[in-house]
Amino acid sequence: MPELKERVHEALQDDFLRKSVKFTVDRLKAGKQKASEKLGQWETWRERARQVRAHTVANLDHYLGRFSANVEKAGGKVFFAADAAEAVAEVQRIALAQDARLVVKSKSMVSEEIHLNRHLQAAGVECVETDLGEWIIQLAGQTPSHIILPAIHKTRGQIRKLFEAHGGQPLSDETPVLAGYARKVLRRKFRQADIGLSGCNFGIAETGSVVLFTNEGNGRLVTGLPRTHVVVMGMERLLPSFADLELMANMLPRSATGQKLTTYMTVVTGPRKQGELDGPENLHVIVVDNGRSAQLGDPEFQDLLNCIRCGACLNVCPVYRQVGGHAYGSTYSGPIGAVLTPLLQPDKSKWGEVANASSLCGACDEACPVKIPLESMLVHLRRKNAEGGRTPLTERLAFKAFGRTFSSPQRIRLLAKMIRLVRRWGGDHFAPRGWTKARNLPGQPEKTFREMWDETGGRF
Ligand code: SF4
Repeated sequence: MPELKERVHEALQDDFLRKSVKFTVDRLKAGKQKASEKLGQWETWRERARQVRAHTVANLDHYLGRFSANVEKAGGKVFFAADAAEAVAEVQRIALAQDARLVVKSKSMVSEEIHLNRHLQAAGVECVETDLGEWIIQLAGQTPSHIILPAIHKTRGQIRKLFEAHGGQPLSDETPVLAGYARKVLRRKFRQADIGLSGCNFGIAETGSVVLFTNEGNGRLVTGLPRTHVVVMGMERLLPSFADLELMANMLPRSATGQKLTTYMTVVTGPRKQGELDGPENLHVIVVDNGRSAQLGDPEFQDLLNCIRCGACLNVCPVYRQVGGHAYGSTYSGPIGAVLTPLLQPDKSKWGEVANASSLCGACDEACPVKIPLESMLVHLRRKNAEGGRTPLTERLAFKAFGRTFSSPQRIRLLAKMIRLVRRWGGDHFAPRGWTKARNLPGQPEKTFREMWDETGGRF
């Protein structure tokens, strides 16, 4: 994969991407604003949501125990995967035991995180995404560029070409035609599938239920039609009770898309019971750690586990709206991705740099429905990178010199004098490369601030 700088450069050259990301996130942002105003007392709701998530994460061992006991009581099976390899191996084991040839999937960021599709295909199991956006990027061989709108960067023309290449027949650019084609192909897949694989928006500890929020209804078909249902969920995605779900059912869709409620809320409690008309015969829940438990007890990063993956922080981020999701180079993009990705990776040297892809404006903190302090987490990550020696030598030397100079009034005074002299001799050419490409350095004032201070005794 190219370096972060190259990825950003590539994204900045793509005019359509920038226009479309900006247009879409502006709509989502406006929708969220309206929906939160309509609900009223948004800040009270936010604080309550923060408390519920923080309480659940602080007592995660208790709620995980309760959740898994109740899943099993309802007839399901639970597997705790320590890392991506264990989670993938368990899905492969289930597929092999079922002699499965086809898996249909509803949207699951955790399955993207562990690269499940690639591993299943390599094991000879066809894996088909059924969320329209996810299916589009699967056909394009890409990764999601937004947590909730994975194909935000694609034009209708590009989608038509992908569908034409898939079906071998000409189509038009009209949305109903494209959606109709996807529906025809995917309905057949739902009927043929051996396994339905889903993520989990929330697991309810008190009943062992798995709750999915979808807008296309594909979640119902994935969980209702195939013989076996496999849930792949992050270990932190729990809520203590249904009363807490009521709160989140208000907060998540409003923060994500500005909807009052998601179109479909599917609650799965155990496999199909005697006398029930639909639902799977087997239910497997795979609870994935993959670096999450390392954040538990960490005062700087534990709150990260409160995230409900609504994408609101992406929609307000001035960096994300310019470059879209692929420039971040990993499954999770935007402010949440810039913090989550390095923390989940064992190799910190590779991903620490994304923490620099932020203006630290704090817009993400204000947008987050569960009040995660993303801005200070980004600062902590930068500090960790510096302490771990993962910053370039030039940067380390520059900050050492900065620290020495700015800790002494005499040295600041000397530096100001030197800068004035250098600039007088045409030294503006030495300004940081790139900085003066699109802007002029401000002109030199007659006197420095200190000179004016000395002259007036501080009375300007
Ligand atoms: S960090 Fe907050 S705003 Fe961002 S995805 Fe998570 S819950 Fe949503």
